[in-house]
Amino acid sequence: MRIGILSREPECYSTRRLVEAGIARGHQIDVIDTVHCYMDITSSKPTVRYDGEALPKYDAIIPRIGANITFYGTSVVRQFEMMGTFAVNSSVAISQSRDKLWSLQLMSRKGVGMPRTGFANEPDDIKDLIKNVGGAPVVIKLLEGTQGIGVVLAETNKAAVSMIEAFMGIKANILVQEFIAEAGGADIRCLVVDGKVIAAMKRQGAEGEFRSNLHRGGSAELVKLTKEERATAVNAAKIMGLSVCGVDILRSNRGPLVMEVNSSPGLEGIESSTGKDVAGMIYEFIEKKASKKATRRIAQ
Ligand code: ADP
Repeated sequence: MRIGILSREPECYSTRRLVEAGIARGHQIDVIDTVHCYMDITSSKPTVRYDGEALPKYDAIIPRIGANITFYGTSVVRQFEMMGTFAVNSSVAISQSRDKLWSLQLMSRKGVGMPRTGFANEPDDIKDLIKNVGGAPVVIKLLEGTQGIGVVLAETNKAAVSMIEAFMGIKANILVQEFIAEAGGADIRCLVVDGKVIAAMKRQGAEGEFRSNLHRGGSAELVKLTKEERATAVNAAKIMGLSVCGVDILRSNRGPLVMEVNSSPGLEGIESSTGKDVAGMIYEFIEKKASKKATRRIAQ
């Protein structure tokens, strides 16, 4: 198959592994720099152009869209969809999952466990917002943050009020969330591909750090999931409409709580801590999808 990887970082571990695994399975792989794609939106002939030429018709694309280019990146993915190319994650699903609030709203409707969360606009409502999530300590999160940047812990109600006022003062959108102390600075990253958890790792924050992000100095190890954790991760991926994603879960006294669902999960931590060929399994999914399409064509 001819497969395009949309990535701004050809040298990063995840992209390199996707190229290597694709070639090993006999596919022709192109790495396409997402922001250098441009679009010809013409009736009946939508095209993606690159460096003065139209890109070929790929059988599939693997979008690896960084959070800093979500708008442009999802527009490019959508353009490929318009051309009939199969996108491993759809543009709509990527957009939804990028918005932490939107994701939590979608999952709360379906009863997925999550930390109690509030969102408000007016400083007058701050006190009730904090009370509603159970009072201090609370976690305050920038809606657009990634890699743990913009996630802060307010240990007292007073600190929470002034932090939220400060964020509101600069017009930053924030979530206020119940702090899950018993998670002990750790979380579980579940890698879901095609409705199954194919690998899972426990990330532990550095000493004295409540955020477990590997970018913040956290460490990762293999973890065995409970049935409930597995079902929660699969359900979250399904609700978000993502075929390939990382579901981040906190272990709480009342069971697994989903924090977020990541549509471009990094492969390095999860492959090295579990020894699994996650990149290869993403191609298995693409091949299965493609063969279904071919069977349908023959059947017509
Ligand atoms: P980001 O998308 O920037 O990684 P997260 O929402 O995943 O932000 O938060 C970063 C880290 O902070 C998480 O991996 C987790 O370890 C910790 N954390 C986030 N929310 C909570 C919470 N409500 N209670 C306890 N720890 C939390």
